[in-house]
Amino acid sequence: MEVIILLGGPGAGKGTLAESLKDQTSYIHVSTGDILRVAVKAGTDVGLEAKVCMESGKLVSDEIILKIIKERIEQEPTDTKFMFDGFPRTIQQAEGLRELLEEINGTITHVLNLIADPQALIPRLCGRRTCKTCGAIFHVVNMPPKEEGVCDLDGGELYQRADDNEETVMKRLEVYKTQTAPLIDFYRNLGIIHDIAAGGTAEQTDTVALAALND
Ligand code: AMP
Repeated sequence: MEVIILLGGPGAGKGTLAESLKDQTSYIHVSTGDILRVAVKAGTDVGLEAKVCMESGKLVSDEIILKIIKERIEQEPTDTKFMFDGFPRTIQQAEGLRELLEEINGTITHVLNLIADPQALIPRLCGRRTCKTCGAIFHVVNMPPKEEGVCDLDGGELYQRADDNEETVMKRLEVYKTQTAPLIDFYRNLGIIHDIAAGGTAEQTDTVALAALND
């Protein structure tokens, strides 16, 4: 099993890059945020526990997240190539992933560290719109859909995520700085991190990311 990780703060463009890489590579896209949103909607035990954390911008427990990842990995053959988006988000999750991969001879080949201008993150997130059915990501100013409120890809309804409001975004940025940013050094020490400038257009980020993957 080969794994690549998309690392970066909220609004850095992980989800947008993942959508594009999914179409251009053979990686299976796994977003813990997407899995949690499905669980919240379905009202499962995990969903009920995750909802409060997600709405306030805090992290869901490492235990729940690692269980979700373990189950997801076990659903696919051992030669699968995974692209993790939004996971790991703490050192404990990174350690847990290392243990899971050790058991199945899996490796993390690349960590793409998306770097965006912090000033740009709040407007990026507050203007983000997501398709209810396929998860495609748009932006009211930077990447507007052809028809307002309608997904270009499948005609699904576009919605604003409950946590894409200024107050929650500020909390998510703080949580990123204290709990997730330490992963940059963690993976840099392993020599697998690639810094990707993510301040430009989605196409520019794609090009740099693809070049890093082929490195
Ligand atoms: P995302 O869709 O990646 O922006 O995640 C949305 C929210 O889901 C986060 O603000 C967290 O509350 C929760 N979440 C997603 N992934 C994780 C993770 N790996 N660890 C803890 N919480 C997570």
